[in-house]
Amino acid sequence: MPAYARPTRVDEALKVLARGRRAVLAGGTDHYPARVGRAPDEDILDLTAIRELRGIAERRDHFRIGATTTWTEVIEAKLPPLFDCLKLAAREVGGLQIQNAGTVAGNLCNASPAADGVPPLLALDARVELASAQGRRMLPLAEFIIGPRKTALRAGELLSAVLVPKPKHEARSRFLKLGARKYLVISIAMTAAVIERDNGIVRAARIAVGACSPMARRLPALEAALTGKRLSGNLVRHEHLAALAPIDDVRGSAGYRNEAALVLVRRLLDELA
Ligand SMILES: Cc1cc2nc3c(=O)[nH]c(=O)nc-3n(C[C@H](O)[C@H](O)[C@H](O)COP(=O)(O)OP(=O)(O)OC[C@H]3O[C@@H](n4cnc5c(N)ncnc54)[C@H](O)[C@@H]3O)c2cc1C
Repeated sequence: MPAYARPTRVDEALKVLARGRRAVLAGGTDHYPARVGRAPDEDILDLTAIRELRGIAERRDHFRIGATTTWTEVIEAKLPPLFDCLKLAAREVGGLQIQNAGTVAGNLCNASPAADGVPPLLALDARVELASAQGRRMLPLAEFIIGPRKTALRAGELLSAVLVPKPKHEARSRFLKLGARKYLVISIAMTAAVIERDNGIVRAARIAVGACSPMARRLPALEAALTGKRLSGNLVRHEHLAALAPIDDVRGSAGYRNEAALVLVRRLLDELA
């Protein structure tokens, strides 16, 4: 019989993980669909009873999003406009039942190229905290997701929190997703932006596009082109999206995705302007 552990403290969870391989379970909304038609045969470590992994806390220079914080908790949290991109993405992750169970860390650890949580958290310059029985380490999100469905998690490690730094200037953010219909849909392309401004001038821009490359990507050429200017979607050129490498699949062709990404980014910046 496979073993099932549901500890109430992080240190207990890390001891369980240190003893041998376990499938880590949070909301289960990616875990279970990947195992349909198979008898359960893995030892499970269920994180959902660990209170210290849940919720969003404000610290002096950053916000800390606990690993098992659900999408509904993100939507309901009182957060500054900086987080609008993450809240908008949260509303588009599946339907209400999925948002009630699915977690931010589960979305990151599953590392789907179409994960709606990744572009907003890249635009928020998030870092992930990885905990093991040996201690904790931090990684920028861009170094944590290293390929489609591949992360830098090592054996014995849990993603314990996502840390979002406070911006230097007044910051606003947005998220836009394109799917074949409005709700309950896997993204064809999506984009998130955080813009920091001072007297109407862009002081920092962080823009990410998802579902148009093996992992969601920031657009450094566009970010540099916007800095020091008044924001407008007209500033976006095709060459600013050169970092993207979309594929043809059932949801859309590479050419369509390239065009869609360009239009989405322009719209997003116009909304923020
Ligand atoms: C009907 C349906 C619709 C969906 N729609 C969307 C959508 O629109 N957009 C979208 O992005 N996703 C969607 N999803 C996917 C899923 O709901 C999200 O990715 C969700 O955030 C996953 O979180 P979870 O807690 O359920 O993860 P789980 O299924 O519990 O875990 C996912 C993976 O992450 C690992 N893991 C989880 N937490 C940790 C941790 N703290 N440390 C280490 N490893 C961990 C697990 O071992 C597993 O490999 C949908 C799923 C379903 C079933």
